[in-house]
Amino acid sequence: MKTCTKCGQTKSLAEFRVDRQRPDGRGSWCKLRGGGHARCSR
Ligand SMILES: [Zn+2]
Repeated sequence: MKTCTKCGQTKSLAEFRVDRQRPDGRGSWCKLRGGGHARCSR
């Protein structure tokens, strides 16, 4: 499990985007875009 730094929700690694530059191989944001993360961008 991993916590998304964008929406703050804890989800499985499968829900996160692949980021090979990260030690765990997953980005810090989940795949949730549009609805959940749109409001974070000002
Ligand atoms: Zn998220």
